[in-house]
Amino acid sequence: MEAHRDEQTRTSRRYECLDAGCGAVIVAPDEAALVEAVHRHMAEEHGSFELEEVIIDMSTEVEHSAEVER
Ligand SMILES: [Zn+2]
Repeated sequence: MEAHRDEQTRTSRRYECLDAGCGAVIVAPDEAALVEAVHRHMAEEHGSFELEEVIIDMSTEVEHSAEVER
């Protein structure tokens, strides 16, 4: 199944995991997808949880050249 990918915006959201020693970088096409991906990362890798507000607050915009992780 193919979802239509960023038609309106060419920027993605990027979040760096703040957990000590992790350094994972999570990139998603929009805030909702970023929050979902970070939630999954935190649960799977750290058994913890990050607030949506914090994720969005700590995320940065990236240019379209970045690959979108699934
Ligand atoms: Zn992490």
